[in-house]
Amino acid sequence: MVRKSGNRGKEKKQSIFTRSVHAGEPRRKYADSITTPIIQTSTFTFADSKHIEDYTKKGKEHFEYGRYGNPTAQIAERKLADLENAEDCVVFTSGMSAITTTILTLVHSGDHIVITDDSYKKTLEFCRSYLKQFGVGCTIVPFGQYDVLDKAIQKNTRFIFSESPTNPYLNIFDLNKLKKIAKKHNVLTVIDSTFATPLNQRPLEFGIDLVLHSCTKYLAGHNDILAGAVLGRTELIEKIRNLHKSMGGLIDPHCCYLLLRGLKTFSLRVKQQNETSLQVAEYLEAHPRIKKVYYPFLKSHPHYDVAKEQMTGGGGVVTFDIKGTIKDAKHLLDNLKLCYIGPSLGGCETLITHPALVSYYDYSRKDRYELGITDTLFRLAVGIEDADDIIHDLERGLKK
Ligand SMILES: *Cc1c(COP(=O)(O)O)cnc(C)c1O
Repeated sequence: MVRKSGNRGKEKKQSIFTRSVHAGEPRRKYADSITTPIIQTSTFTFADSKHIEDYTKKGKEHFEYGRYGNPTAQIAERKLADLENAEDCVVFTSGMSAITTTILTLVHSGDHIVITDDSYKKTLEFCRSYLKQFGVGCTIVPFGQYDVLDKAIQKNTRFIFSESPTNPYLNIFDLNKLKKIAKKHNVLTVIDSTFATPLNQRPLEFGIDLVLHSCTKYLAGHNDILAGAVLGRTELIEKIRNLHKSMGGLIDPHCCYLLLRGLKTFSLRVKQQNETSLQVAEYLEAHPRIKKVYYPFLKSHPHYDVAKEQMTGGGGVVTFDIKGTIKDAKHLLDNLKLCYIGPSLGGCETLITHPALVSYYDYSRKDRYELGITDTLFRLAVGIEDADDIIHDLERGLKK
């Protein structure tokens, strides 16, 4: 089944702000509703034998059974494909479901993959531990060392997996360099673009083969659902869709409705988050109690030039290290009244995490420091509140 994205014909491509609202949606909807209906059904019926044969023999579009697809999910897929400038898309129950199903589709026993070392924790764990059970090798290379990456590719390497920007240091992968290396060795490239969103970066336009998103974050954007997506050429996406039908962890239509609702305002929210995050990053960088700020659109960021070249916004996450000890870090957390302390990112509410106390609590201090997770490191996931209010809240926590 060939799925086209929402923008058809030769008309001028609309702005991503307009497409966030309209793309992928039929102009006229059930009962003349303006919103996309939630088609809450597990099965679909045929009118008669001709209808069956039109579907089975002539390939006429028809939904057959809930695990094979649902109209509300299909509209979410079409909207996402349009925003990412992709031929096709599959949505999943979570970002991790999208990632693992994509990886499992691409590898066979005896294959090998290469992944960069600051990829999402659970992605790394899956590649490092579980792929071995299927006889798939995995080399983890240090992020940003392109010569090491180049040398890590073997005859049986299927793909290179990376992220950009990464967590928590917001490292930026040079997508042109990645594509060059992949082309030389004839391997596929997969990028988790969750932190960037299609407003700030569209890896497919750099020749990347597959783009992954945890839609849980900016795309749905309200801290209320889990969802994921993979996007790319129809030929690859159809294979992933097929495995997804067997794996069976299908996203439900109500969740797709919430994703669609979130997507309508996604460009607006992320535009605001880009602006607010830059303001917050600049405020922090000038603050006497701050040791270091990491934000891709700050000139001090090691990958500022690449970021400026391949992204149109720095995103909604600001990472910073404060002067002092763990006591000062706790003082900051305990004096916040606006920012919530919690994991995740991309929602309306500003969230702050202290990786040493949460994600890395079970690591020794030495191991943590080797990974760059200091006692005084914070990740701020900026919401859509006013920049001055967020800054005021941080100021309260940074005051001695
Ligand atoms: C959150 C996240 C994931 C996992 O997505 P879920 O929706 O939580 O399964 C993967 N990659 C990145 C970069 C993420 O931030």
